[in-house]
Amino acid sequence: MQKRDKTTCCVAGGGPAGVMLGYLLARAGVRVTVLEKHKDFFRDFRGDTIHPSTLELMYELGLLDEFLKLPHQELHSVGGQFGDFAFTAADFSHLPTHCKFIGLMPQWDFLNFLSEHGNRFTTFDLRMEHEVIGLIEESGRVQGVRVKTPQGEAEIEADLTVGCDGRHSIVRDTAKFDVIDHGAPVDVLWFHISRHPDDPYHSLGNIDYGQMLILINREEYFQAGLIIRKGMFDQIKAAGIPAFRESLLQVSPFLGKRVEEIKDWDQVKLLSIQINRLRQWYRDGLLCIGDAAHAMSPAGGVGINLAVQDAVAAANILAQPLRQKAVTRDLLARVQERREFPVRVIQGMQARAHNASLNFLGKPEKAHAPWQMRAILNLPGLQRIMARVVGLGVRPEHIHSPLDKSAIRDTM
Ligand SMILES: Cc1cc2nc3c(=O)[nH]c(=O)nc-3n(C[C@H](O)[C@H](O)[C@H](O)COP(=O)(O)OP(=O)(O)OC[C@H]3O[C@@H](n4cnc5c(N)ncnc54)[C@H](O)[C@@H]3O)c2cc1C
Repeated sequence: MQKRDKTTCCVAGGGPAGVMLGYLLARAGVRVTVLEKHKDFFRDFRGDTIHPSTLELMYELGLLDEFLKLPHQELHSVGGQFGDFAFTAADFSHLPTHCKFIGLMPQWDFLNFLSEHGNRFTTFDLRMEHEVIGLIEESGRVQGVRVKTPQGEAEIEADLTVGCDGRHSIVRDTAKFDVIDHGAPVDVLWFHISRHPDDPYHSLGNIDYGQMLILINREEYFQAGLIIRKGMFDQIKAAGIPAFRESLLQVSPFLGKRVEEIKDWDQVKLLSIQINRLRQWYRDGLLCIGDAAHAMSPAGGVGINLAVQDAVAAANILAQPLRQKAVTRDLLARVQERREFPVRVIQGMQARAHNASLNFLGKPEKAHAPWQMRAILNLPGLQRIMARVVGLGVRPEHIHSPLDKSAIRDTM
């Protein structure tokens, strides 16, 4: 007979949304099981940005000092280069938060940190190599999940299941949620290129000769992303590696000989950008948050932040009712009501940024910033507004879910 476990809240997916939700619920004394299909958190680049709002949550949780001991870089402002015009897009130095910067930290360090702290609670159960393969449904209500584990298939029954399994969510597919797809006219090619100490520190966006190159400073290397028109990767590959290197040099000549580090296409990963969201994020016994509810584009590097904010809102609204076995559809609807507005605003901005990029992508001439752009982009007021939108998001969340001291593991 198949093994059947029982928990109060079953979280499918151990990314930023799932691990943060697991941590917060466990901290509030709710028995939570987080299922992650991989055996560890070490994976391809998925974004390494820890925003001021997330750092503020760490402060509210009393974890900030310890968190900042982990190796990280601090981005106090972000900017770029449009042709020969250098600009600062967002200046975080005036934010009303303890950390006035974006922390750059490998996502696995962030997830390991949170899960280690989750393990301080008897109520936290993170299971790696547990892949959700289906939902248990009875009388139209989701009652838990079916999982594939190294020991075989099993079932986990739960009062509430939360889909945090990202933009290819099996939970959202199986639940047959209606998806509103905004499409995206661009894709991104990700690769590494080494960095020299005298390279520009924060030349995040570089636009010239019809190319847009994102360079995220990781001290010894750049995490580089070349924005391309959707579907163009095959054509770029057909033109060959030397032409690819040449195009990088056109937009960021300071890379010089380092472009030769790209030797074959295995070093270049295609991310097919999506922007979509569920019409309804919940059903009886089931909720989706993070990318599972709203796949974000990497534009602005805000997806992790939104996923974490969703988790905080869900824990604020659901922790107490979960303890009392009193989660209703209305409460699940409240999570969507709380989070849908910020998601719509940011997705709208991302879609506009994609469309704007089509004005220069593929245009072979040197980029010249018109005077209006020069005037607007360097306005300190605008840089502060952008810092708020990017750094804090719309409607930032704060920790209201309780700490249940009786759930703290006795380490003696
Ligand atoms: C290449 C790339 C670069 C990005 N860059 C940035 C950036 O710089 N900054 C930023 O903020 N955002 C960035 N994003 C977006 C960001 O990664 C997401 O918005 C964010 O990770 C969403 O968090 P999440 O927890 O909802 O989902 P995810 O991070 O996708 O986590 C989902 C988790 O669920 C697990 N999972 C999936 N299916 C199952 C299953 N069936 N059973 C069990 N586990 C499962 C996955 O292994 C994963 O660990 C980027 C995205 C990509 C793809």
